[in-house]
Amino acid sequence: VSAARHERVGLVSIGDELVSGRIVDRNSGEIAARLLELGFEVSEVRVLPDDEEKLARAFVDLCAEHGVVVATGGLGPTLDDVTRHAAARAAGVGLTRSEEALVAIRAAFAGRSFAMGVSNERQALLPDGARMLPNPVGTAPGFSVEIGGALVFALPGPPVEMRRMLEDHVLTELTASIASAVATRTTHLFGLSESVFADGVQEWMRRDVNPLVGVTAHAGVLTVTVRARGVGLADASDLADARLFEIEAAFREHVFSRPHGDLARVLGELLVERGISVATAESCTGGLLAARLTAVPGISAVFREGFVTYADEAKARTLGVPAELLARHGAVSAEVAAALSRGAAERTGARLALSVTGIAGPGGGSPAKPVGLVHFGVLVDGRVETVERRFPDRGRSFVRGLAVNTALFLGLRALS
Ligand code: ATP
Repeated sequence: VSAARHERVGLVSIGDELVSGRIVDRNSGEIAARLLELGFEVSEVRVLPDDEEKLARAFVDLCAEHGVVVATGGLGPTLDDVTRHAAARAAGVGLTRSEEALVAIRAAFAGRSFAMGVSNERQALLPDGARMLPNPVGTAPGFSVEIGGALVFALPGPPVEMRRMLEDHVLTELTASIASAVATRTTHLFGLSESVFADGVQEWMRRDVNPLVGVTAHAGVLTVTVRARGVGLADASDLADARLFEIEAAFREHVFSRPHGDLARVLGELLVERGISVATAESCTGGLLAARLTAVPGISAVFREGFVTYADEAKARTLGVPAELLARHGAVSAEVAAALSRGAAERTGARLALSVTGIAGPGGGSPAKPVGLVHFGVLVDGRVETVERRFPDRGRSFVRGLAVNTALFLGLRALS
């Protein structure tokens, strides 16, 4: 089942300040997300200046390919707000002052300390045949009008006004017209790249397949989304679930959570649930690992202590890492990672001790130990394992963020 024309939506964000980059377009992303949830397919987003001719052309264009077009912005009272004029031109109709709109604008000003200006009357102009959409949180009414067989909604630009009118008018009207149903499922993976994932799922990521699989990556966490379209919700859900199971089976060792991608929360909640105490010993991550774990509500029941032993001398003094070990292998080594986690466990009595020591850059790398090299120590009930990772050198915070997530993932894996 693919989206019918009336389920395909084009979005237009209007405003000179959006084109110049002074303001970033947030409206279209928000509208697209809401429409996708309902089963519509947003296939194009345009950002355009307050230029009547350009806008009119865009309306004609988008209406030829989409069943619905939602535009935001350019409904203000000043001469540079031309969305009404552009819509009228695209529809091939005139622009008339609407008494209904004028009454609504007067009412919006009634409770305000600013008087209504003459220019506000401009906001009562509507393309002939358009329906006025009341604006309960601002002065500019919106409207809907038919252009080339498509339904165009024009909403004010300010996000609070847009949001309210989207819910009140656009979504309620469109929900009634949707024929197919869409079900979305999400799962989170760690420890593989987007490209390895894509190679593994191949055809499932082609944009014309149903269900459609998408993936995004952040700090090593892959968020995988499955979106299925079916004749009813049960049908769509079955399709999405089946594909989700196949993906999770193919990447079993990497899957760590369905509802959210926060590794600290997954590990923290598991530790609390099982009553397993934890300590951390960090060098290059400078306490980020402890910060992430202690952000988890209820963690105080199990979190013992977080050490930030940055200098070699601190590693020796605070966690008893032998000076001889540091001299022989260097601070960034499997041996020191193991000693750090052992020291943290001994000092605190924690059953799980995670350690991180690495080279975050930009300086400090060498051919043998390049920027991005990180060693991890994972101790569970006295038994230590070490893991070495070579992360790409994409900057200090990238390496540190990836190192923290890797430590959390290794801790999670050691317990399961
Ligand atoms: P009014 O002028 O009556 O407030 P309008 O419909 O003319 O309404 P614009 O003038 O286009 O709206 O935008 C008003 C303000 O709303 C912008 O200055 C900006 O702060 C915000 N805004 C408009 N469009 C967007 C958008 N796409 N994303 C984020 N913010 C936006």
